[in-house]
Amino acid sequence: MNQNKKTADPSACVHCHLCQKSCVFLGKYGIDIGDTERLRELAMHCFLCGKCTRVCPRGIDGRDAILEMRRQAAEENKGRPKEKGYGMLLWEKRDYCFRNYKNAEGKSVLFPGCNFPSFYPETTRYLARLLRERAGMGTVFDCCGKPVAELGMQAGEARILAGIDKRLEQAGVEEVVMLCPNCYHFLKGRLRAKVTDIYSKLQELGLGQRVPGHLKVFPPCPDRRDKELLGKIRPFLEEEPLVEEDVQCCGLGGCASVREPRLAAELTEPLDREEAVCTYCASCSGAFTRKGYRAEHLLLKILGREETPDTKRSLLNRARSAYWREKKR
Ligand code: SF4
Ligand code: SF4
Repeated sequence: MNQNKKTADPSACVHCHLCQKSCVFLGKYGIDIGDTERLRELAMHCFLCGKCTRVCPRGIDGRDAILEMRRQAAEENKGRPKEKGYGMLLWEKRDYCFRNYKNAEGKSVLFPGCNFPSFYPETTRYLARLLRERAGMGTVFDCCGKPVAELGMQAGEARILAGIDKRLEQAGVEEVVMLCPNCYHFLKGRLRAKVTDIYSKLQELGLGQRVPGHLKVFPPCPDRRDKELLGKIRPFLEEEPLVEEDVQCCGLGGCASVREPRLAAELTEPLDREEAVCTYCASCSGAFTRKGYRAEHLLLKILGREETPDTKRSLLNRARSAYWREKKR
């Protein structure tokens, strides 16, 4: 089988155990992606990080296979996960309660997502103002729907995507500029509006500064395999970064920390606490900071901002974005 051709069908598994050896979750239970009966029971324990997909010689996409198992389980349970523990997440994200389209002016808008405004509220506003002043861009606060999709809730996912499309269309938006790698990879090619990323937009507008130093960079799960966004960040870096590949996930992936809190806490142990780790995902930098690591977001370095992740008031910051109204000058 051509390994570049991926399949979500685990029946091709030859039980070489490479996935089991590379994943803390599979290793804990002593199973391969091909052990579908047991995996189905444990589908909500997976971080959906995709590492198993990258190592499989049979081209089996373990992440997609497990996501499909989650979907089937939700289908059998009125569209919701059978397991408990996701009430708060669903309360917030199923019909995003901190949504704000009051600043949706212009044909191109910034889409900061949920977590960047939570951890970096000042920089979110700074960037929104900068893009408004320099390019006449607006800003919309919404959730891309990935958390709901990762719980296997397909009808909920479709509803969220249709809602975003409708609101953008009503506001006359033709281009959406993503800050978050999760939003970018989840929504790219799935909206009627063009989806692009903040690093390409900064380049286009001639904004942002070059960042010095030999940086250690942790790519977030959705960008880990192809490093598409890291490639767009690279022109801003003076030196080739050292890419951190040992850590499987920051611990927040796939909502798995609800079922596997200990594994989620231990995943980042290979990182050196004395050394700064750069990332380009606010969820990762928030998770690292909460665990006592020195996390730095590359976008802040490019913008010349000093803000550290506000882990204490993240929910409050997110809630405030629902009421933010940019004053016209
Ligand atoms: S790496 Fe692929 S072939 Fe090997 S055990 Fe895992 S799923 Fe099966
Ligand atoms: S997606 Fe990640 S956590 Fe899930 S089985 Fe694969 S490697 Fe393990």
